[in-house]
Amino acid sequence: MHRTHVTTLLVILTMFLTGQVQAEEKRLTVLRTVVLDPGHGGENLGALGFNGVYEKKIVMAIALKVSERLADQTDATAKLTREGDESVPLARRIAFANELQADLFISLHCNSSFSQKPMGVETFVLSEKALEEESAKLSRQVVTPRGLYASAADPAAAAVVKEMLQFAAHRDARGFAEQVQSNLSRSMRAVDRGVKELPIIILRGAEMPGVVIEVGFISNPVEARNLSKASYQDLVAQAIVDAIVRYDATLSSKRVPGTVAESAIGK
Ligand SMILES: [Zn+2]
Repeated sequence: MHRTHVTTLLVILTMFLTGQVQAEEKRLTVLRTVVLDPGHGGENLGALGFNGVYEKKIVMAIALKVSERLADQTDATAKLTREGDESVPLARRIAFANELQADLFISLHCNSSFSQKPMGVETFVLSEKALEEESAKLSRQVVTPRGLYASAADPAAAAVVKEMLQFAAHRDARGFAEQVQSNLSRSMRAVDRGVKELPIIILRGAEMPGVVIEVGFISNPVEARNLSKASYQDLVAQAIVDAIVRYDATLSSKRVPGTVAESAIGK
């Protein structure tokens, strides 16, 4: 063997042994910070599963798995709205994402029904009507600049920027929601209940695309059992990470330089 080949091989071997060669890490072009919001927490238990496991525990386990996988597989960072088993007000969760200027907000929940029958996955985005109500509210109130629109010092300008952000975010949210919904129902072989629009409180005021994922019905005996298993939670987490990567690719292919906020505040 030629000497340079041996040297190259030795270098590669050394890098491998010292951990410099890792499983390929995807570089995301648009998404930097993803806020994961495990629903409920603390005395707010969420729904009670058929098997006695509470929603707050299942969604926390999934959020942690998404966070780990996102860090391992991409160069994006996940931030959680709660670190442990504590109660966090809804308004605080979205304010946290706005302050971080997050690129994506994913709220994780489990569905529940009085009947044991309903099952499957569904994803919610903010309805157009709720968005219009938000924008009407903004035009009436003095907006305290926070988050991305903080550079617009004038409250009226801040309100305009915030409104623009919310409308742009809503359009992108639909795209991510479709992606994550199809990934989840496919990889978990779960009933696909589709993407739905609702006036969801947690998504109001979000300056980035936001979705609420109902990962399954814990009132259903089969899904309650599945959702409590680490292996099934791994599947859910990976489906979400894959959707984030795909969503980033669609964003980077259509995005022109400069964000809505930057152009609105004249940066
Ligand atoms: Zn919930």
